[in-house]
Amino acid sequence: MSDHDARPLDPATQAVWGGEDRYLLDRATQVPVVHSVAFGYEDVDEWQAVALGEAEGHIYGRNTNPTVAVFEEKVRLLEQAEAATSAATGMAAISNSLHALLAPGKRVVSVKDTYGGTSEIFTDFLPAFGVEAVLVDTTDFDAIEAEIAAGCDVLYLETPTNPTLKILDLERLTAAGHAAGATVMVDNTFATPINQSPLALGADLVLHSATKFLGGHADALGGVVAGRAELVEEIYHYREINGATLDPMAAYLLLRGMKTLHLRVERQTGNATAVADYLEGHARVESVNYPGLPSHPQHELAARQMNGFGGMLSFSVEGGIDAVKRFLPELKLAHRAANLGSVETTVGPPATTSHVEVSAAGRAALGIPEGLVRYSAGIEHVDDLIADLDGALSVL
Ligand SMILES: *Cc1c(COP(=O)(O)O)cnc(C)c1O
Repeated sequence: MSDHDARPLDPATQAVWGGEDRYLLDRATQVPVVHSVAFGYEDVDEWQAVALGEAEGHIYGRNTNPTVAVFEEKVRLLEQAEAATSAATGMAAISNSLHALLAPGKRVVSVKDTYGGTSEIFTDFLPAFGVEAVLVDTTDFDAIEAEIAAGCDVLYLETPTNPTLKILDLERLTAAGHAAGATVMVDNTFATPINQSPLALGADLVLHSATKFLGGHADALGGVVAGRAELVEEIYHYREINGATLDPMAAYLLLRGMKTLHLRVERQTGNATAVADYLEGHARVESVNYPGLPSHPQHELAARQMNGFGGMLSFSVEGGIDAVKRFLPELKLAHRAANLGSVETTVGPPATTSHVEVSAAGRAALGIPEGLVRYSAGIEHVDDLIADLDGALSVL
């Protein structure tokens, strides 16, 4: 290797080449999908060395797999982390990480606006294990700091939030978490490594639902966590024993999707910006939540900590859920489905998507209006997306 390798690669290049700098099988230029459950050894000493982690290699598919390892390495490079490990879904990555790092008597501080499934881990599952979970108002940073100071083993953050696109100040809250001796975790699913680097802002661990923007094609489930090596090692050990392993075929699809991550996210960010502008000027639209809009109450904070404002927005229309039920079916260029981050535009009310697990009263308590629509901009031409919205909203 010559010393020109020392120059760090841009994320656009890393998305294409990261983790793929050596051929795994018969000089195939593409990562093979290795479906083998076990890996064979003629030499028992070599087998044992790999099993003990003293030599590179794979033993059994619940632990590690060559296709899955390339996916983990690509995410590690994109997040500029010491280590990364994967899981079967985003929720598996989140729950395995929390369970690995917490124990009875420990205290976790988070916010009210985390992803619905994550929120349920805090309200239902962790308390059953004797872990205290405190959920604070998402935009009240003073209150979050006060709870951290009152005792915090894990500080769990997510920004921008789903579905109301609130922004957490990562530098400020991470510093507060570390002052209290906490491990700081950040769900970076909405921003992607292209638009936000939580580790560079101080976080210990960054998590993704790879199902969303990383894969980008709505055809594979997966999760990943990256960050400090000793923490990732603990989470890997928990996951390998508990068994929520990422499937090699899913890892292949995620890897294939990630080659265009930078292109897609750039386009989705541009489309979301134009759609948010359009919606803000529409007479039937009550409010638009997009961190890229100067009207967003935390626009300046978002501009400071993000490289781009992302492909997600939400908006509410006059007439609440009844109006949503009338105009949503009129959209031709959008899946009405519980997903986001795909190449196709995808829409849905939180009541059927991110917060389906939460009751109507619970959504109200979280400040999520029943007339809200979450909009995940795809990579279509923006003129077509706006014309489609214009036609659909004209029925109101
Ligand atoms: C979808 C999502 C998750 C959960 O991921 P799965 O892959 O569906 O398990 C977690 N966090 C955020 C922000 C999400 O959008």
